[in-house]
Amino acid sequence: MEAGRLQLDKNKLALLKSILEEIQPELELASIEFEGPFITIYVKNRKALAEHQTLAQNIAKKVRKRIVIRVTSDMRLSPAEAKAKILELAPREAGIDPNSVFFDEALGEVWVKALRPGYLGGKIRAVILAETGWRIIAQRISPLESKTLREVTSLILKQAPYRLEFLRKLGERIHRDVVVKNNYVRITALGGFREVGRSSILVETRESRVLLDFGVNIGTLGDPNKAYPIVDIDSLRVDELDAVIVTHAHLDHAGLVPLLYKYGYRGPLYVTEPTRELMAIMIKDLIDVAKRSGKYLPFGEKDLATALIHTITVSYDEVTDVAPDVKLTMYNAGHILGSAIVHLHIGPGLYNIVYTGDFKYADTRLLGKSNTVFPRIEALIMEGTYGATLQEDRVKAEQRLIEIAGRIAEKNGVILIPVFSVGRGQEILLVLNEAMKERKIPEIPIYVEGLINEVTAIHLQYPEYLTRRVRDLILEGENPFVTDNVKLIEGEAARPDIVEDRPCIIIATNGMLNGGPAVDYFRLIANDPRSALVFVGYQAEGTLGRRIRDGAREVSIVVEGKVEVLNIQLEVHSIDGFSGHSDQRELVSYVKNINPKPKKIILNHGEPNALQALYALLKTSKEIRQFITGIYVPSNLDSLNLTSQ
Ligand SMILES: [Zn+2]
Repeated sequence: MEAGRLQLDKNKLALLKSILEEIQPELELASIEFEGPFITIYVKNRKALAEHQTLAQNIAKKVRKRIVIRVTSDMRLSPAEAKAKILELAPREAGIDPNSVFFDEALGEVWVKALRPGYLGGKIRAVILAETGWRIIAQRISPLESKTLREVTSLILKQAPYRLEFLRKLGERIHRDVVVKNNYVRITALGGFREVGRSSILVETRESRVLLDFGVNIGTLGDPNKAYPIVDIDSLRVDELDAVIVTHAHLDHAGLVPLLYKYGYRGPLYVTEPTRELMAIMIKDLIDVAKRSGKYLPFGEKDLATALIHTITVSYDEVTDVAPDVKLTMYNAGHILGSAIVHLHIGPGLYNIVYTGDFKYADTRLLGKSNTVFPRIEALIMEGTYGATLQEDRVKAEQRLIEIAGRIAEKNGVILIPVFSVGRGQEILLVLNEAMKERKIPEIPIYVEGLINEVTAIHLQYPEYLTRRVRDLILEGENPFVTDNVKLIEGEAARPDIVEDRPCIIIATNGMLNGGPAVDYFRLIANDPRSALVFVGYQAEGTLGRRIRDGAREVSIVVEGKVEVLNIQLEVHSIDGFSGHSDQRELVSYVKNINPKPKKIILNHGEPNALQALYALLKTSKEIRQFITGIYVPSNLDSLNLTSQ
C-alpha cells in the first residue's frame, strides 16, 4: 500500500515536472492547479503569452491532459478596459454584440456573443488573453434566440465563485493517489435492461464509481418502482460517486439526474454542450407537466439548477480524466443533437468499455452516422430498441411523406405530424423545406408549435454537431429549419384558425399524442376526411397514438375535464423510416464494423423480444463469433464482472 502511494506521488511529480519544462521563465508562473479534469496554469506575465500561443496545446499533447492557461487576477485588465480592448482587437467579421459581454471574475473568463464566433478562436483568442488577461468564450448569436441557453449561461456565471471551488475540490479527487495493481471492472444494471426507459448503469473499479445515464420512464411516472432506476443498492452511494455521465438529453437517459443532486451528490455531470441545454429544456418541461397533471416528481427546479451548476461539458473525441483510473471520451452517436457514445478507458491499460446509449448507424439529414472507431474496446454495451425490426429505407420514407403532403394539399386538407421536441421535428422540417424549394410539393404554410421551437434554437446554436450540409447553411447565415413558409406558434388561441388556413402542415408535440398541442390539433381535424395524421416516430403501448395507429376509429379524449368522443375520418399514416435508432440490420452491421473488435457484448435498452432477436442474430453470425467470447442480456440489478475471462 505504502509503496503504491509513494509510486504515485512520483507519478504526480513527474507530471508536474514535465509541465514545468514547457513553461518559460519569462511567463512568470504563479501556480499550477487541478481544476476538475483540467490542469490550469496561472501565469503573471500575460504579455509574454503572445510569444507562446500554442503553449496549452503543446503541453496537452505532451501530458495527455486538458490544459487551460489563465492569467492571475491581479494582472488582468478591469472588465471595462478589457471589454474596450476586446472590441478593438476582435475582427469586425466576428460581429460581437457589445451588449453581450459578460465577465466571470472567478475563472478569468469573458463570455461574448458573436455572429461568427469562428473568428474569435485560434490566434485572436491568444492575442486577447495576452492583451487583457481574460480567456474568451464565444457563443453564436442565432437567428432564433434560445431562452434556455441564456438562462443556463447566466446561472453558471452567477455561480462562478462556487464553480471554481467545486472544480478545485474535484481536481484533487480526480488526481488522488490510486492503488494501480489488482483492479477489476464491474457493471451493474440499474435500469433500462430488458426494457426501454430509466436507463442507468453503474461502473465500478476498486478505485472509483461512475454512473452512466440516469433516466426516468415517463410512461410509469406514477410508480417509482418502475419509473426510476434502482437506487437503493449498497454500491450506489451518491457521496462515493466520482462522475455521472449522460449520453443524451432524452428523459429516459437524463430525466432523473436532478434527483442525484437532491440526494446530496455534488460531483460532476459530464455531457456535451448541446446536451446540457437540451436536458434543461426537457427536464423543465417534465417538471411543468408533472405539476399540471398532478403527478408526483421527486425533485424540483432547484435540483435541476444544482445539476447544471455541476456540469462539465466535453466535446466529441476529447479525452477527459474523470477519476484517477478512468478516462472518458465521447463520440458522435447520430441519434439526436449532442448525443454521444461513451468510451471509458480504465487503466492504466486495464480495460475499455464502449456504451452506445441510443445510436443511429446511418446518415440522416440532420446528423452523421455513429462513430465506429475507438482506441481500444473490450466490452460493448449496446442498445437494441429495434433489435427485432427492419425500418423503411430513408429515401422511401421521405418520398412517402412528400407524396402524402402533396396529395392532401391538393385536397385542401391539413397534414398533422405529431413529433417529439428533440430530433424528428427538425429532420421533418428539413425534408419539407427542401421539398418545397424543389417544388415537389406546393409552398404551403408549415405551423410549428411546442417545445420544438426552443429546441430548434439550440440546433442553430451548435451547427458543428450537424451534417456538413446543414452546418454550411447555418454558417452562411441561413436558417434551414425556419424558412419563410414556417410559422412558429406560441399559445393555443390560434389553433382553430390555423386548421382553417388550408392547405397547411402542422408539426406539433407530443409525438405519441399523449398530451401537448398535437392532441388539440388532432381533435379539431379528426373527422375531416380531406386531412391526414402522419406518425413519424415510435408509438408506445398504451398511448393514444398507438391506438389510432393500430386502427381505432373512435377514441375518447378528455377536454377541460369533459370526455369527448372523436369519430376518426382523416387518413392515418405511419412512416417509421425517420427513426433516430438503428434498426436490426444497422445494429448487426455496427457490431461487424466496430473497430477494434470487442470481446464481450452486453445488450440493453430494448423490450425482451427485441433483445432476444438481436441476441440470436449476433450469436449465429459466423463473422461475429470469431471475435466475441460472450453476449449478455442482463436484467436490472444484475452485475457483471467484465474483467473475468
Ligand atoms: Zn434517446
